[in-house]
Amino acid sequence: MALPVTLGQQERQALDDLAEEIRARRPVVAFTGAGISTESGIPDFRGPSGLWKRAKPTKYRDFLAQPDLRLSYWERRRTRYPVLAGAEPNAGHVALARLQANGYLCDIITQNIDGLHQKAGSPPGTVIELHGSAHHIRCVTCRQIFAANEFPLPADGLEPSCPACGGIVKEATISFGESLDVDDLRRSLEIARGADLMLVVGSSLQVNPAARIPQVARQSGAALAIVNNEPTPLDDRADLVVRGPAGAALTYLAELLVG
Ligand code: NAD
Repeated sequence: MALPVTLGQQERQALDDLAEEIRARRPVVAFTGAGISTESGIPDFRGPSGLWKRAKPTKYRDFLAQPDLRLSYWERRRTRYPVLAGAEPNAGHVALARLQANGYLCDIITQNIDGLHQKAGSPPGTVIELHGSAHHIRCVTCRQIFAANEFPLPADGLEPSCPACGGIVKEATISFGESLDVDDLRRSLEIARGADLMLVVGSSLQVNPAARIPQVARQSGAALAIVNNEPTPLDDRADLVVRGPAGAALTYLAELLVG
């Protein structure tokens, strides 16, 4: 097999071992973070060129309390959302979808809001978007959800409001200080408790409660594999760690398993 040049001998060996584990424990579960989408041109938060190097994200409490902050939030979204909406899945997303189609992987619990797993072919019902979706707008008052591409945005400098009740609206993603959807969290924890192997890809594992999910899987007896290009706080409890780019690593893994 042609080997991706970006993977060293050590990474390939770890992926060979991981493929054996996945064969024995299939179907396994994936837990993904912003790092799987950087190769699609979407910056992560905490990686070397992450968004946090430029600006801190909006806190939910401040968003509700400060109209000026809401205006700048919508101004940023006006420029950022078209980039996100136009992004294409990369080799990492595609490899995970191939593993699903061939029975090696069942669910994908993702912290990402970009919808790229589904765009790569992962069945929507198998993808839990723990931090919501940028492709929807939600009213903070009546909780109604609207498709972002159909939502009526007013001219620059004006704040949008809920077409149903007139309330404050925001992207249907979880901001800092906002609670996760209870059902999504419950289902993710159930999946983690039942998993035989959890494959973590592209997450700094620093955002709670999402980062607890791989820990719950580990404590419930699952093997833990981590693919990330820098160390994470769970590396010393993982059975396998692959330090390298997600796209090349997952492509190699899918080739080993699916061909
Ligand atoms: P994070 O930014 O905290 O960590 C990403 C990790 O991935 C870093 O350790 C980084 O070194 C690594 N990484 C980056 N590119 C990689 C690659 N090509 N291959 C392997 N590893 C790579 O991300 P997180 O842990 O998901 O937590 C951040 C929060 O930010 C999440 O809540 C998520 O909702 C949100 N977020 C989402 C997106 C998105 O939807 N694409 C983008 C930015 C932030």
